[in-house]
Amino acid sequence: MVSREDIQRLIHRPDTGRPILSAFLDMSVDATNKRHYTTFLSKERARFSELDSERATHEFTDIGAAFDRVAGWIDDGFDEANKGVAIYTEIGGDWLEAIQLPVPIQNRLEIAAHPVIGPLVEVVECNHSYAVFVVDREHFRMLSVVCGQVLADQRIETEPDEPRRHAVQAGGEAAKSYQKYKAEETRQFFKDFAAAAAEFCRRHRPDHLVLLGTDDNVKGFLPFLPIELQERVVHTAAAPVEAGAAAIVDRLAGFFAQHQEQREARAVEVLTDRVRHNYFATAGVQQTLELLQEGKVETLIVARDLHRAGAQCQRCGFFLARTDRECPYCGGELRNGVDVVEAMIRIAEEQEVAVGFADPAALAAVKGAGALLKF
Ligand SMILES: [Zn+2]
Repeated sequence: MVSREDIQRLIHRPDTGRPILSAFLDMSVDATNKRHYTTFLSKERARFSELDSERATHEFTDIGAAFDRVAGWIDDGFDEANKGVAIYTEIGGDWLEAIQLPVPIQNRLEIAAHPVIGPLVEVVECNHSYAVFVVDREHFRMLSVVCGQVLADQRIETEPDEPRRHAVQAGGEAAKSYQKYKAEETRQFFKDFAAAAAEFCRRHRPDHLVLLGTDDNVKGFLPFLPIELQERVVHTAAAPVEAGAAAIVDRLAGFFAQHQEQREARAVEVLTDRVRHNYFATAGVQQTLELLQEGKVETLIVARDLHRAGAQCQRCGFFLARTDRECPYCGGELRNGVDVVEAMIRIAEEQEVAVGFADPAALAAVKGAGALLKF
């Protein structure tokens, strides 16, 4: 699975001056258990061969070698349990990096100066990660879950004191003090669980938390979590600690899907409402791209599968969503046919601005892209 760290690493990969082939492949199987990426790869290979027949022979050979490396990696390195993969390799170099995905991704192949990251950002933003905590008075279970997959499963067992016969039989004051003692013991366990939870979140960086257990245990445990973790709890429900990780995640499948839909709907609602009232928001690719480059964007929202070609100034690097004779800022020469949706996503990731994706129909009112602004 891909993480935000993977995306940052790809963005900040040192430029070697060699072009990068980025291949996104749908590796899901059809009804007859077959994968179809080979057809797509051969078509793309033919397209680039034609394109390059007029170029120097060595470049042509380098592109062929890059396609061979991609095919070779799939043969040796692809884990059949996955449904998608992003493969990056240098043209004329030997660097290759592959990121496998538990979700299908649309077939796409690009050769550009940088690794293309848009499709990976979409996977990360549309499949948020969750830490699922299951708590009772004596046990604590921690799962890291993305796309219904359990990436980590950790369990804490405590050793509670067994009731001492004399204390129970003595009744009255002795029983009361035993209850008090057990309550104090639970407090201590919850404190330890909360510390483990904080450490687990530092390591796995979940976007949201889910807390499972009986109503009493959930209510009792919650205040022990640090405030910043309490605020990230998006769902609580009953679940036995003994349940298998797969069973716990299966039961949450409905919630995960609903949560994703709600987040998307809410983002679209906030954006369209702010655009309507002209309140710290902008709409349309051109305006959004411009304000992003001015560092004014707080949250970028893009329609899934949006494609838009624009231009980039060869002198100052500025992107435009339209074609023009020269750069409106510095008069420099423009290169046309640049993927400005990728540019928007890349700029947002570079600035660590939040990126959201939504249904194209839902974003029609803002012409496919918009942003909430900082100022
Ligand atoms: Zn310029």
